[in-house]
Formats: sequence, C-alpha cells, structure tokens
Amino acid sequence: MTQGLIFNIQRFSLHDGPGVRTTVFLKGCPLSCSWCQNPEGISMDPLIVRHMNKCLACLSCFNQCPAGSIKITDKGPVIDQQSCRKCFGCADVCPAGAIKVAGKMFTTEALTKELLKDRLVFEESGGGVTFSGGEPFMQPEFLLEMLKSLKNQGIHTAIETCGHTKWENIKKTIPFTDLYLYDLKFIDEEKCARYTGVSGQLILSNFKKLTALNPAIIIRIPLIPGINDDHASLLKIAEFLKSAAVDQAELIPYHNYGERKYDNIGCEYKLKGLEKHSDLDLENIKYVLGRAGIKTENGGGSNVL
Ligand code: SF4
Ligand code: SF4
Repeated sequence: MTQGLIFNIQRFSLHDGPGVRTTVFLKGCPLSCSWCQNPEGISMDPLIVRHMNKCLACLSCFNQCPAGSIKITDKGPVIDQQSCRKCFGCADVCPAGAIKVAGKMFTTEALTKELLKDRLVFEESGGGVTFSGGEPFMQPEFLLEMLKSLKNQGIHTAIETCGHTKWENIKKTIPFTDLYLYDLKFIDEEKCARYTGVSGQLILSNFKKLTALNPAIIIRIPLIPGINDDHASLLKIAEFLKSAAVDQAELIPYHNYGERKYDNIGCEYKLKGLEKHSDLDLENIKYVLGRAGIKTENGGGSNVL
C-alpha cells in the first residue's frame, strides 16, 4: 500500500477550489522560494516546529532529549539542529503542544478515511479535497493513489502545483483530477533560477502541455514586490498566457503571514521587512495585465495557518 508524508490537513479552506474544501499539504518541494509561506513543507523529512508561546517551561523536553540538544532560554527551549537526532521524543512528551512534528506518514486508506469525515460538508457546499504542499507532485505515486481513491468515493479533487515535475506525473492525474491550480511566477529563465533555485523550462512546458488538453484550471500568479511585479515581468507573463490561449488568472498578493514559521523551525526569513502591495499597486498590476489581454481577480492560496 502506498504511503505519503503529510504536514497538515486543513479543513474549511475557502480559497483552494470550489465550495468548502479540505486541503492536504504534502511534504517536499523542488523550489526554494524565499517568500514561501509554508517553509515546514519544503524538506522531504519530518521536522520539529516550535510554538514557544504555548510553552509551560515544564522541562519535560529537556529531560527527554537523548542528545542534549535542547537548551532552555528565557524564550523557551531552543533546539540545536546539528546535534538533534530527530527522534521526536521531545514532541511526544510536550504536554502543551509547544513542540510538534511537521510530517506524518499516512497510507492511502487511512488518509481517505480521514478525508471522508468531511463528506457532508463537501456535498452541501460543492467542495472537495485539494492537494497542496510543498509540491504534491513530489510524492507522485501517493498523490495518484489518493486521487483515484477519492474519485471512487465521488469526491471533487483539485491539485495545487508549481508545475515542476515530470510531465508523465501530471498526465497520469488528469482522469482523476477535477481542477488544477497552477502557479506561474516567472517566464524569465534567469529570474526563475535566481529566485526559485530551479529552471523554469519544465514549469512552462508542462503548463503548455496541460492547457492544450483543456482541463479545468485556475492560473495563479503569486506577486512578490520588487521581484516579479515589474512592468516587463508582467508583460512576459501575459504574453506567455496568451500563447497558451489563456486569458485570465488569479493574483496572489504577497503577505508575510508565514514569517513567524521560519523562527518556529529555526530558519531565517530572508524577506524580513518586505512591504506588501498597496491597493493602488494591485490596481496598477491589474491594469497592466488587463491592457495586455489578461483578466485578473484576487485569489487566495494555500497557507497552513
Ligand atoms: S528530536 Fe530528539 S534529539 Fe532532537 S531535540 Fe527532540 S528529543 Fe532531542
Ligand atoms: S515539554 Fe513543551 S511545555 Fe515543557 S518545556 Fe518543553 S516545549 Fe515547553
């Protein structure tokens, strides 16, 4: 039986497809965008997330740790990542949920059972299940098995993807996927490599192949101030979309709601202090894209809250 590593199951999501949805966040992402709002989902391994505002200073984690990796500070326990053995004993003994593990294995059977608890909500709202991440195609076999399992149960399915995977992986999901939410950040190859850490060629070629098959698809453009929201970048995106016979997209304006998570997992947030767009900025962006033939509206986007 296939198994998958999940770092969150978020119920009552309203921005990841039609109706009320349950969004499943799969671990692992091939990109390394510095604005990522779910940094605990990037690595393929389970990792510790600290919520220090919940800490009771009971020292159970300190006493449990076999590696001496936990230091008690006035802000709560701090974990030395170098010496940590990833045994997760600290999370097991924490009585307050101040130390948790992002990443839990599920079989397709167990996850399907969990998701079917929301069947009534899906039926009443026209919703369903959305797979997000990380990047769900980092676990292609598990994703495919989950889609098949849910379709067998008559559940509406959606995949949110950055498109950076083998085309074969995407192609296999088409018969079992009711909606794709496809993120498009860069057309410019140099910028894509600089800001995401990967070439954009696979993303763009998969986009063309997928849209040519005419599936239900929502194009999402995450807007990062000073990085991909300049006039030239927007025009390139518009031209690319038109070349794929697409004339509308959702804009995902930048926000920093995920900033605290970097601290929680012991990483630095590199975009600290970056201002989000003003309403006027967004109107200007919409105007530029509109003049170039792309209708836009504001979208939501999958963030683990
Ligand atoms: S995961 Fe294990 S080794 Fe690492 S800090 Fe927690 S108890 Fe210590
Ligand atoms: S076990 Fe939990 S509540 Fe107790 S000190 Fe460690 S983090 Fe804080």
